[in-house]
Amino acid sequence: MTASEIRALFAVASRPEVVSLAGGMPYLAALPLDVVGGSLERLVAERGLVALQYGSGQGDPGLREQILDVMALQKVHASPDDIIVTTGSQQALDLVTRVFVDPGDVVLAEAPSYVGALGVFRSYQADVVHVPLDAEGLQPEALREQLEKLRRDGRRVKLLYVIPNHHNPAGVTLSAARRPEILEIARRYGVLVLEDDPYGLLGFDGDPLPAIQSLDSDGVIYLGSFSKTFAPGYRVGWAVAPHAVRERLVLASEAAILCPSSFSQLAVSSYLSNHDWKHQVGVFRELYQERRDAMLDALDDLLPSASWNVPQGGFYVWVRLPAGLDAKAMLPRAVTQRVAYVPGTAFYADGQGRDHIRLSYCFPTPERIREGIRRLAGVLDAELEI
Ligand code: PMP
Repeated sequence: MTASEIRALFAVASRPEVVSLAGGMPYLAALPLDVVGGSLERLVAERGLVALQYGSGQGDPGLREQILDVMALQKVHASPDDIIVTTGSQQALDLVTRVFVDPGDVVLAEAPSYVGALGVFRSYQADVVHVPLDAEGLQPEALREQLEKLRRDGRRVKLLYVIPNHHNPAGVTLSAARRPEILEIARRYGVLVLEDDPYGLLGFDGDPLPAIQSLDSDGVIYLGSFSKTFAPGYRVGWAVAPHAVRERLVLASEAAILCPSSFSQLAVSSYLSNHDWKHQVGVFRELYQERRDAMLDALDDLLPSASWNVPQGGFYVWVRLPAGLDAKAMLPRAVTQRVAYVPGTAFYADGQGRDHIRLSYCFPTPERIREGIRRLAGVLDAELEI
């Protein structure tokens, strides 16, 4: 195991004088904290002896019912018994990898991919092989070619890890046309799809696309989370898996943690039933859209030598630096200039990514975002003069 580049950075980037465009922290000041507090008080008064007790290894049955309503927005097919509640979707990533991956097995992941998932795969000694993505997400033809090559080489491929919506860090969404194509290729090569979807409800325009899982509930494990639509501090996420897989995930989770936190689950459950959570997700969406716009405007005005995508949801802009710059080497100098980002190298298992940085717009105000980009532009200018 190695320390992730983000972890090492957090200590410095969280100093108040630094504009952090690094972390993916949701903007919780937009939550109605009085409502949340009131419902916690009621929870302890009315169901305290359940909320503070051990619970089921699979997760609270009432919450699993409610998760079906959340997932219905993305047409995920499931019954409450198909769901296991986990300690954030991060624990679900760990459980799935623990159950499926032996040292040396291949896990396919987009290039780039989520740093926290790469850390899990590495900790189980998986061999992560990247497949390129573009503005429409994972490229089916590249996936087919990679699987064919791995088959020729006699490699055992266990999982295809995909972040279909508002990708972390690339900001792209897998197009509706590509979803069945990707699924068909994975099915042909006998590879299970691991669909990680914490940002699915945070699209700025139109309804969310149906999940990949909605096309084939046997070949896909779907992961969801309340971290981005409600609050990450509760650490409540979930996995939907075919029956035999779900049973193994529960056994693995019981061995690791006995059961997910009863208190957190019932707190989330009571929030969902007593509060207009869909409205709140809409509040988050509007807020993030405004910040996305602020970041894109600032990039247009102040960083014309770089290039970037226009995310349609989620938290991140993926920026390509002008030729010759090294995102990792530049980071200490950026932090000295009181701005932080995540270097692209964090999002690859194989050392690529020096030419990219991930900027997140979810937490700072539009004014701070602009100030951060202004500082970053100064850093780039100084680098280009070296
Ligand atoms: N997957 C992705 C793609 C993420 O961006 C994150 C959080 N940054 C997670 C999983 C983990 O989220 P959590 O454990 O809070 O549910």
